[in-house]
Amino acid sequence: MKLFVATRNEGKAREIRELFSGLPFQLMFPQQQFLERLPEERDLEQGMSFAENAIAKARYFAKRSGLPTVAEDSGLEVEALEGAPGIHSARYAHFHGEGRRGKGEGDIDAANNALLLERLAGVPEERRTARYRCVAAFLETPTAAPQLVDAATEGRVLTEPRGAGGFGYDPLFFSTDLGMTFAEAPPAAKHRVSHRGRAFRALIEVLLRRSK
Ligand code: IMP
Repeated sequence: MKLFVATRNEGKAREIRELFSGLPFQLMFPQQQFLERLPEERDLEQGMSFAENAIAKARYFAKRSGLPTVAEDSGLEVEALEGAPGIHSARYAHFHGEGRRGKGEGDIDAANNALLLERLAGVPEERRTARYRCVAAFLETPTAAPQLVDAATEGRVLTEPRGAGGFGYDPLFFSTDLGMTFAEAPPAAKHRVSHRGRAFRALIEVLLRRSK
């Protein structure tokens, strides 16, 4: 089955490829389908929840690609920050006026991580609890009812980065399940417990059942 994956985020795309590896799906990404980035894409994530944003991205790319499409929206919720950065995780620093357009993904991650540390300055370890969340949406056609899966993984935000793997907030996210940061964990270990691993395993079960 051909499945369009509605993301331009390289970290997410790599992980989603790994999560589907060995399964009977041919994943297609925007670049492969020659779908150039249009200015309107910036307005896709205007929803108030991960689910709304995941559905909006899936609908938009299902229309553009003409293929069954999966999209996900994810982010980090920090308890001491009342759930921030949450749905604004990708552009946290920019959102607060501290980032600049036109930066690469690595620069954006660094700015987001710096702002997160600043906002948590002085907060003691026991109050730095956080969770990553991921909602994935599947659409058979642009007008179909979406299939949604929702997953989370628990941890806390360290005071300094550890590890060189993963992407985004991973060097600061100490996983309760793994006892190390997601940037220190080998990819397979991250997938076993991560919000994205859990969400996509559930979604893959739904997709395999449908195709029987
Ligand atoms: P989205 O593209 O709006 O869903 O943004 C997701 C953002 O949340 C990413 O750009 C990261 O900043 C953060 N994020 C989500 N999942 C992860 C993860 O597995 N590791 C690190 N950061 C993540």
